[in-house]
Amino acid sequence: MSKKNADYYFLQDGGEMGERMRALDWGKTSIGDPAAWPPGLRTTLGILLHSKFPMFLWWSDELICFYNDAYRPSLGKDGKHPSILGMPGKEAWPEIWHIIEPLINQVMTKRESVWFEDLLVPIYRNGKLEDVYWTFSYSPVPDDTGKVAGVLVNCVETTDKVNTLKKIEESDQRFRNTMRQAPVGITILRGPEYIVEMANDAYLQLVDKTEKEFVGKPLFTSMPEVKESVHNLLDSVLTKGTPYHGNELPVPIGRHGKQDICYFDFIYYPLKEDGKITGVSVVVTEVTEKVESRKKIEEDKRRYETITQNTPDLIYVFDLQYRFSYANAALLTMWGRSWDEAIGKGLLENGYEPWHAEMHEREIDQVVATKKPVRGEVSFPHATLGKRIYDYILVPVIDEKGKVEAVAGTTRDITQQVEARKEIEASEERFRSLAQTLPQLVWVADAQGNQEFASLRWEEYSGVQPKGEQEWKAIVHPDDYEGINAVWMHSLTTGSIYRHEVRLKNKQGEYRWHSVKGEPVTDKENNIVKWVGAFTDIQEQKIKEEKKDEFISIASHELKTPLTTVKAYLQMLELTLDENNEEASLYAKKASQSVNRLNELISELLDVSKIRLGKLNYSNTQFNFNELVDSTIEHIQLTSTTHSIIKTGTVNEKVTGDKDRLQQVIVNLLTNAIKYSPGTKEVFITVSQENKMIKVAVTDTGIGIAQQSLDKIFDKYHRVEEHAIHFQGLGIGLFISHEIIQRHQGKLWAESEPGKGSTFYFTIPVNNSFQ
Ligand code: ADP
Repeated sequence: MSKKNADYYFLQDGGEMGERMRALDWGKTSIGDPAAWPPGLRTTLGILLHSKFPMFLWWSDELICFYNDAYRPSLGKDGKHPSILGMPGKEAWPEIWHIIEPLINQVMTKRESVWFEDLLVPIYRNGKLEDVYWTFSYSPVPDDTGKVAGVLVNCVETTDKVNTLKKIEESDQRFRNTMRQAPVGITILRGPEYIVEMANDAYLQLVDKTEKEFVGKPLFTSMPEVKESVHNLLDSVLTKGTPYHGNELPVPIGRHGKQDICYFDFIYYPLKEDGKITGVSVVVTEVTEKVESRKKIEEDKRRYETITQNTPDLIYVFDLQYRFSYANAALLTMWGRSWDEAIGKGLLENGYEPWHAEMHEREIDQVVATKKPVRGEVSFPHATLGKRIYDYILVPVIDEKGKVEAVAGTTRDITQQVEARKEIEASEERFRSLAQTLPQLVWVADAQGNQEFASLRWEEYSGVQPKGEQEWKAIVHPDDYEGINAVWMHSLTTGSIYRHEVRLKNKQGEYRWHSVKGEPVTDKENNIVKWVGAFTDIQEQKIKEEKKDEFISIASHELKTPLTTVKAYLQMLELTLDENNEEASLYAKKASQSVNRLNELISELLDVSKIRLGKLNYSNTQFNFNELVDSTIEHIQLTSTTHSIIKTGTVNEKVTGDKDRLQQVIVNLLTNAIKYSPGTKEVFITVSQENKMIKVAVTDTGIGIAQQSLDKIFDKYHRVEEHAIHFQGLGIGLFISHEIIQRHQGKLWAESEPGKGSTFYFTIPVNNSFQ
């Protein structure tokens, strides 16, 4: 009876695998029944089954498989276990045979052991081909002839270890990649020299260096410019071991070819190895743009504040919740609140009355909806000034996207202006109602002469308002139209008083004489702002004047004839008187002088009538002007015992004109100068010529003429009132002189100062052609 498997010592024990080996019918395998197994196999199996270490054995040429309990888990579930026990190696491990066969052969033929650590040997288990890692040795097992007959495998599955290591490596790699790609600059500095151990892309970009230039070198060799700013900070982290957080630190950095101050937020973190600080890790972000834009905003704000803080206007900004986000000093003062008390608060909270707050809130809504400013006027009590009137404007503050982000407002105290405006309106109203009560035709025009106001009398008198040229033309007598327009234009351009006489047509179509007087109204700077004037009906006066003129004209004519007779008889009397009768001769001479004076007066009166009727005749001759002046002086000097007439200057050119009439003017000016300077001894006459104009000036140092009378003394019968009491005259000399000079195309005017004297000037062209 042959031995059962269980009887063999080398198949004892061994747990499940011992049992399976004992149960297997080895006779069906190529190594046959255990009875024939060589001692090498027996000994090895004995060790294998008793080992707690995973072991596998290939035996014989076919490489029949044996393995122990400890090896079993490596084969997984639903895999090779238990089928490969006693199976030839090639059949048991088809999936890896190409890997292990050369190893087995190496051991079998060269008797060398082989050793592998963490080698990937995928096996089929758990229903699939799995990647399995092994650390194992193949060692030769000899048979009793000393030939290698088997290969013993001592192995440990290291799949878990390898996978763990792999994971660690992967995560390490991931970490490195993360560091490299991090959007913040990261660098590691080692030792007191701060050798750059690594620097990520962001850091290299930040310092504008390549990895080659930067890594592996002391920091301050590559970037000496940052030493002053950061050396001490790094030293303190390295020595004390406390991290340092830098906030917007300005650091001069040379990059992109220039050096600039840039700003950085960063952390210096001490790196410890074996409890010792060996380096510093640096995490940094550049905030230059942020800092600079903030600085710009701050600068803008400062500028804005200097403007808004120093104005009396109230300036403020509302957010879209109707809260104040800005209020200038003037507004805070008005409220009597501090910035912190007022900002972020609404209108009600800042003391606005409910109606007022409600009104502004609706206006803010309107500004936001329309994106257009809203303007208004409001009146409310000021904390200290009492009731005030304000003009305000709310405007939209529009952001980059075109949306209204806030509403800004400006409010101005216009109480004074409003009051002044009301005052002006009231005074204008008073003026208007006063103007309406006057019998005159009152008018107001702007500085350019456009009508602003015409009293109701215009309508009543003419049936029209003199609004424009058309209406004006319809009212004014056609013969007077050009004349009055010329005078008005002259006043508008020179600012001189507007004075003229004109015929205006009434409703019945009848023309009545009016005199107009208009005066400019000026502002503080003396600029003309308007003209105010009135037309006064002088029709009756005109008629009376005409009657007077007519009477004077008739009377002077009537007087002229008997006077001429008297003059002739006096001359005859003088001739017949005995030369020795001195007394009688004297009387006759005096009578003759008075008659001459009377004759002159009557001639003047007749001249006035002639002027009125346009019949004053002129005879044009060429004469020596200088001689005329000299002879006139001589003639007057004869009759004046009080004054010397002093002449300066001369005129060489001959003059064309009416010699007698020009003499009449000079006589008039000289006699006036003497007459109106009693108590003085001299009067002066200066003649000169410039280009083709003769100029004559007659000066006295007498009583003078007040400014307001200067332009009236050339009017017919006008005598300065104060003078009329003390001096006799008719007030027609200057009127006639003015007419004569005008007809010579010249100008006659006077300059004077009361109490100091007067100068009368006239100019005439050398050559005259009367019109
Ligand atoms: P009259 O016969 O009154 O002198 P005129 O026409 O010559 O008439 O002068 C008009 C007015 O002008 C005078 O009444 C006088 O008031 C004033 N006047 C003229 N010449 C002078 C002068 N040299 N000085 C002061 N007043 C003068």
